[in-house]
Amino acid sequence: MAHNQLHQPHQLYIAGRWCDARSGRMETVFNPATEAALAEVAVGAAQDVDDAVAAAAAAQAAWGKSTGVERAACLRAIASGVLEQQEQLARLQTANNGKPLSESLIDIGDVVATFNYYAELAEQLDTHQDQPVILPSDDFTATLRREPCGVAALIVPWNFPMVTTAWKVAPALAAGCTVVLKPSEITPLPELALAAIIDQAGLPAGVFNLITGSGAEVGAALVSHPAVRKVSFTGSTAVGQTVMRAAADDLKRVSLELGGKSAALMFADADIEQALDIVCGGIFFNAGQMCSATSRLLIERSIAEDFTARLKQRVESIKVGDPMDPATQMGPLSSRQQYRKVQQYIQQGLNAGLNVVTGGGRQPAISRGYFVAPTIFADVPFDSPLWCEEIFGPVLCINTFDSEQEAIAIANRSEYGLVATVLTSDRERASRVSAALDVGLVWVNSPQVIFPQTSWGGMKKSSIGRELGPWGLHAFQEIKHVVMAAFG
Ligand code: NDP
Repeated sequence: MAHNQLHQPHQLYIAGRWCDARSGRMETVFNPATEAALAEVAVGAAQDVDDAVAAAAAAQAAWGKSTGVERAACLRAIASGVLEQQEQLARLQTANNGKPLSESLIDIGDVVATFNYYAELAEQLDTHQDQPVILPSDDFTATLRREPCGVAALIVPWNFPMVTTAWKVAPALAAGCTVVLKPSEITPLPELALAAIIDQAGLPAGVFNLITGSGAEVGAALVSHPAVRKVSFTGSTAVGQTVMRAAADDLKRVSLELGGKSAALMFADADIEQALDIVCGGIFFNAGQMCSATSRLLIERSIAEDFTARLKQRVESIKVGDPMDPATQMGPLSSRQQYRKVQQYIQQGLNAGLNVVTGGGRQPAISRGYFVAPTIFADVPFDSPLWCEEIFGPVLCINTFDSEQEAIAIANRSEYGLVATVLTSDRERASRVSAALDVGLVWVNSPQVIFPQTSWGGMKKSSIGRELGPWGLHAFQEIKHVVMAAFG
């Protein structure tokens, strides 16, 4: 295959080969901007999961014993394959997911950085294996080693198809785990193209496998398969809880990246222009379909009226439309289901008489596709479902505060605890507030930049464990200590 030609398979990938689902079933995948059919993709089921897990289990021993340097070479080959085909991959992801092309290119940069980062960590594993442990006794020596968990099931959603995949595949392979990946039924095309690149990266057959199909069949079969030792899941909190229950039977290791209802705290001393960019990016990037969306905006009362007016102006200038157009800033929602869900929340807000600052329904003047207008509700009561529940769409809820303590208390009043944004020009306040927020990541005067070196994940119902950084690698490793009595 020429490297500048994107290979777009539609089959399952098991033991290093493309194959049909045993049932022969196929399902249509759509473009959310046009509602047109894009492709027919194989629908896997429990038997296909058995085949993929058997292939992964057969490859586990040799892959687990390979050196970190050997594994790193494969990861780097994947990173350069993705880089070489970034334009085509970006177009494919945009066609299937609906995010603007510019955002798909950002995602691909993240994918490349993630594979290269875990290649670096894999290379270090060879020299850091069997680390000595300092003991308070001369009669014993001890060493710490980290070993791969074994076969890992990786289940990802549709909002950042390639990024969430990279965040799991790269550390899992670096750790020496073999994997079975299950993309979302809504957006399998980017992962299938990524799998075609992985196929060329020199991995032994069976190390990486991909099964498309539904969560109810493929996802559930993977999570309950006795030969799977680790489950890494990103998606809704409700399904995450189901996954954790199913994994409990075999006490599989579980990592969960779930929902959020994150807050942005806007203090009166913040840089207004910078804050407008950050607040808009925090909720309208990817049409708000982000677990990290800062969907609750808390504004210090003295500037609330003025800032809300400027925000309205800014939001009304967002160019919503064809995600393939380089000028577009917001595309459609990724699926009909998500469009309906977001519209229901908006309707609920309208029915409750909430104060609509802008938007409040379908994006006008676009007849096809799942386009929702960027929407802001102000003075949203703290017990409103729109304030408390994850909407996962371009809907911002605003309320006000009078003191730093009050802002922190309101921000922390949530069952979720993923991220937060703090906007202030006071460095000491930034530190105080960051320390007081019950979340896994705080951005201060910063857009939602993500580095592979920092962790991703949160507190409360947002996560179990952390992705990225060394923590992402450790999530696919077991710890073993060897304590030896001194030899005579
Ligand atoms: P889900 O949690 O249903 O889906 C996430 C992944 O899990 C998909 O691959 C899905 O498969 C799979 N899955 C579904 N059921 C099971 C199961 N029983 N066992 C194992 N895997 C399963 O998210 P949705 O796509 O339905 O979105 C619903 C809501 O979840 C959104 O509105 C949003 O609030 C939230 N969400 C949060 C995300 C985040 O990043 N935190 C990402 C996506 C959604 P399939 O899709 O093929 O059925």
